[in-house]
Amino acid sequence: MQLTLREICKTYPNGVRALDKVSLTIPVGMYGLLGPNGAGKSTLMRILATLQEADSGSAMLGGLDVLNQKDEVRRTLGYLPQEFGVHPHATAADLLDYFAVLEGIAGKGARRDVVESLLRQVNLWDVRHQKLGGFSGGMRQRFGVAVALLGDPKLLIVDEPTAGLDPAERVRFLNLLSVLGETSVVILSTHIVEDVSELCTRMAIINRGRILLEAEPPQAMANL
Ligand code: ADP
Ligand code: ADP
Repeated sequence: MQLTLREICKTYPNGVRALDKVSLTIPVGMYGLLGPNGAGKSTLMRILATLQEADSGSAMLGGLDVLNQKDEVRRTLGYLPQEFGVHPHATAADLLDYFAVLEGIAGKGARRDVVESLLRQVNLWDVRHQKLGGFSGGMRQRFGVAVALLGDPKLLIVDEPTAGLDPAERVRFLNLLSVLGETSVVILSTHIVEDVSELCTRMAIINRGRILLEAEPPQAMANL
């Protein structure tokens, strides 16, 4: 399984060319998309998450046409946006259970198992009865990953997740993603070089909507 992007273009109505023929081959593993603010990262992440339309180009995940088979893609996709909407009065366990219902996981027992396994995976089991309003930024991001993992996605899209995390939380969060990268395609967009140099197996550099370079991190860093 791999995600193959071919010449994806997107120009906003104001004339900003956010994506200019973006072509990438993204294998299973943790893939870093590195670029400065305004490079086009979020635009690409939203297009792959089926939340925005491309003007042209294609994206294939295995046999799935990501830009056109939206229902199918949504069933196999996890998306963690820059700002995960917080529900301050809900506990972690309750809110994850709620999303599990929305995801169509039927039966209290089945949901209890899924919720426990996900909260353990993101290391929030011990605080499951605490309210999200009291969570740190890193805890919230890890909760967002648990939500994104409901439904067992083959493709996980994570947009600028480490902004505002303290160093320990950052490492913890990236380690979590890299474990997920052992079985899924994980795309991590970031403007922080260390996010991709430490744990990503492959990476690309994007600037002004163009891919400048695609390589393994050590090679890419040598060319910066
Ligand atoms: P990044 O995520 O790398 O910061 P974005 O994809 O958010 O980049 O933005 C790429 C370019 O497109 C920027 O110049 C940004 O100002 C512009 N842009 C993003 N969203 C819109 C929009 N809705 N309307 C017009 N221009 C936009
Ligand atoms: P980021 O760069 O982190 O992706 P931005 O601050 O560029 O975020 O954009 C935040 C929101 O504003 C996004 O939804 C984006 O689409 C929108 N946006 C960005 N630039 C423009 C623009 N020039 N005109 C209209 N909307 C924009």
